[in-house]
Amino acid sequence: IKGLLKTPSLLCEKAFVAGEWTDAESGATFDVVNPARGDVIAKVPDLSRAEVAKAIDAADKARHHWAAKTGKERANILRKWFDLMMQHQEDLAIIMTAEQGKPLAESRGEVAYGASFIEWFGEEAKRVYGETIPGHQSDKRITVIRQPIGVAASITPWNFPIAMITRKAGPALAAGCSFVGRPASQTPLSALAIAKLAEEAGVPKGVLSIVTSEDASGVGKEFCENPQVRKLTFTGSTQVGRILLKQAADQVMKCSMELGGNAPFIVFDDADLDAAVEGAIQCKFRNNGQTCVCANRIYVQSGVYDAFAEKLKVAVGKLKVGDGLQDGTDLGPLIEPKASDKVKEHLKDALDKGATLLLGGDENQLGEQFLNPTIVTGATPDMKVSKEETFGPFAPLFKFETEDDVIAMANDTIFGLASYFYAKDLSRVVKVQEALEYGIVGVNTGIISTEVAPFGGVKQSGLGREGSRHGIEDYLEMKYICTSV
Ligand code: ADP
Repeated sequence: IKGLLKTPSLLCEKAFVAGEWTDAESGATFDVVNPARGDVIAKVPDLSRAEVAKAIDAADKARHHWAAKTGKERANILRKWFDLMMQHQEDLAIIMTAEQGKPLAESRGEVAYGASFIEWFGEEAKRVYGETIPGHQSDKRITVIRQPIGVAASITPWNFPIAMITRKAGPALAAGCSFVGRPASQTPLSALAIAKLAEEAGVPKGVLSIVTSEDASGVGKEFCENPQVRKLTFTGSTQVGRILLKQAADQVMKCSMELGGNAPFIVFDDADLDAAVEGAIQCKFRNNGQTCVCANRIYVQSGVYDAFAEKLKVAVGKLKVGDGLQDGTDLGPLIEPKASDKVKEHLKDALDKGATLLLGGDENQLGEQFLNPTIVTGATPDMKVSKEETFGPFAPLFKFETEDDVIAMANDTIFGLASYFYAKDLSRVVKVQEALEYGIVGVNTGIISTEVAPFGGVKQSGLGREGSRHGIEDYLEMKYICTSV
């Protein structure tokens, strides 16, 4: 893919440790594979735990100088980083599609979305306000200041190779923390490319490291056990989140967790059906269904069930499956064969338990990682898809009768990240948006992600919020100063 890039040096095959571009001391590497074609597009260093510790040590040394800069100084560097990401949007998008598979148009969108966190939090760097509190005794003056936590370590997944990192690195660096990130081993190239731009923007040596390693659990242990790390931020499955929280408990480490979802998407009788179909497609099939806010369960009220199913079938039937690098592709490959297996398993389970296939249900001729978008009707709560995230292009339609029924079904899950519903009646809208036990509710929209709003889940979907003015809080500690005068 180097030949496709205007700036070929953005494709880095070295890790970024303590401000140096480096190989693993052992010489070990791992392959980065293009999921559409199965070919190896790059090899990156497989760093050891000791090399990860070196990045942490450098971060710990660099953080003091970084924190001592004014918010505006940090903001200026972050602004440059944002500008560079946008200048190189096309190259970053090509790298992303090559390693992740999503259509180029979605990759371009993600570069802009990912960069927006750097811009937003750079601006917020100037607004880390404290507080004064009237003293409790006449000689006492009380001040509250907010300071950077220290070294932040991050573990991120492959579904948004840039945005999942910038959502964390943006607020961390803005707050004055240093940052060591481990990208998913499927998608390290996007992370390394943006690190290259961070370096060019003037982020000082050691303040940002990107440690590539296939040994996720070893890196996770280093992050949790190394006393120089003060903050762990993770996006991924609830299962791995639980492991990390347990590990982090030994050091009483502050943790942010963006974990799994099982998003309900509800269509009421009074919904604008065309808008609901459009929203369902955006939120079910974006990134080929591989996002934690993708609709997993689509509930449709009985009066519009058949009409909605028919409209959805027509619209989904137009989606084109293909290589993300080719024009006109709507749905790329799934990230790896086991991702396809999970979708097939959910589909089989649904059909075995009585669902009816409305569309798709088979592999595309392009190969096992390409699935044709699939819809079933007659989904029921005993099916796997009702409890677990499918993470693929499979839309099960459940039928419901009343508001109370659907609220109960929607909330009947351990997860609580995103939820969506379409309705017009004002009292219904207010009732349902308040009753859904989710961190995010999309009302008459299927797209909710933006850097200006707090993204995060309740229940077992996570801890903390990313984006908005609240996103920086996760990287700050409050200090109460009591002064006797
Ligand atoms: P996904 O299904 O999205 O890959 P995971 O939770 O399995 O979700 O993975 C999210 C990230 O966490 C990936 O970068 C993965 O390599 C990493 N990971 C997986 N297991 C562990 C672990 N035990 N400790 C630390 N990181 C892990």
